[in-house]
Amino acid sequence: MTDVIGEHVFRQFLASLEPAMRLAGPVRDGKIVEFREGAPEDFVLDDSVSYKAPKEFYFPQVERLITFQDGEAESEPEPRPVAVTGARPCDLEALRVMRAVFLNGRYKDPFFEQRQARGLVIGLACDARKPGCFCDALGLDMKFSDFCDILLERARGEGAFKVTHLSGRGAEALAKFPGTADVKPAPARVGVTRGRALGLDLGRGEKEFFGLIDWEDAAAACQGCGMCTYICPTCHCFEFRDVTENGVTGRYRCWDSCMFPRFTLHASGHNPRASRAARYRQRVLHKYLYVAQNTGHIACTGCGRCVRSCPVGINIKSIVESLTEAEK
Ligand code: SF4
Ligand code: SF4
Repeated sequence: MTDVIGEHVFRQFLASLEPAMRLAGPVRDGKIVEFREGAPEDFVLDDSVSYKAPKEFYFPQVERLITFQDGEAESEPEPRPVAVTGARPCDLEALRVMRAVFLNGRYKDPFFEQRQARGLVIGLACDARKPGCFCDALGLDMKFSDFCDILLERARGEGAFKVTHLSGRGAEALAKFPGTADVKPAPARVGVTRGRALGLDLGRGEKEFFGLIDWEDAAAACQGCGMCTYICPTCHCFEFRDVTENGVTGRYRCWDSCMFPRFTLHASGHNPRASRAARYRQRVLHKYLYVAQNTGHIACTGCGRCVRSCPVGINIKSIVESLTEAEK
C-alpha cells in the first residue's frame, strides 16, 4: 500500500524538518536546474533533470578541512545535517557507489560518513527517460532505488506524490509530521532484479582492455576539459591544497580530474598518462573495471550527464559497448 500525499502537504513536511536540518533540492536558475540549499517552495519536483547530482552535499567541490594558526590545528565544524530532496534513482545509486568507495575500503572518509549518517535522503522517481540516459542498460530502475530514506513517485495528474519510506530514519521523520504520519514502508521488491546489458568481464586484466579497441580513435576529439568528471555523480578523485593568508593556513580538499594532464604527473617529470587517449581510457576503465573489481559496483549509473555535456559528443556508453563487442 502506498500513500498519496498532496504536494503542498509534502512541502509542509519538508518545512517541519527545519531548523534541525538544512534543506536542499533541485532549484531552477534560468535554463538550468541545480541542487542547492533552499526553502521547500523553491524545489522543482517535476520531471526536470538536474545539471549536476546532489553529490556535493556529501563530497563538496572545495572544502576547508583544517585550519592551522599559531602552531595549532583545528578541524572545521560540520554544518547542520542536510535533507536532500529530489535525488533521482541513478543519483541514489551513485551515492551507494560513493559510500562503497569512501567507507568500505581500508581507509574511511569520516566527513562523508558523518554527512550520510546524519542526513536524510528523499528520492524522486523519474517519469520518463531523458536524452542520453542509459540507467536501464546498467540494470537500474528509473522509478526505484532503495538507497534513500523516503521515495517519492509523482502520482498521475498534478500535485501529488506516492510516498513510501525505506529506512527507520525516513519512517521516523515522516511519523513526526501529522500529514505524513501514516506513510507506509516501500513494498518488498522481491524478484525485480533487472538484467544488466552493459558491463565488462571483470576477470580480465586491465592490459587486455588496453588493446581491445583503438583508444586513440575513441578519444580523438577529447578536449581534456574535465567536464565529464566534474558533473559525474560517481567521480571522486581529489587533491589537497594548503592556502596561507595573513598567517592562517587552510587545508582544502578539492575535486581533481583524471582528464587533466597533470593528474598523474610525477615529480620526476614522467607522466604515465601523457596522452588524452590514455587519460580517457583510465576514466572508462576506472568506472567499469577498477571500481567494479574493488567494490562490486560499476561506478557509472547511466545518468547521461557526461553524454549530454561533453562539448565534442563523446559517449561513454558507445565506448563501453565497443569494448564488450570486442570482448566476444
Ligand atoms: S567532457 Fe568530453 S571533451 Fe571534455 S574531458 Fe570529458 S570526454 Fe573530453
Ligand atoms: S560516467 Fe557519465 S553516465 Fe556514467 S554516472 Fe558518470 S556522468 Fe553519469
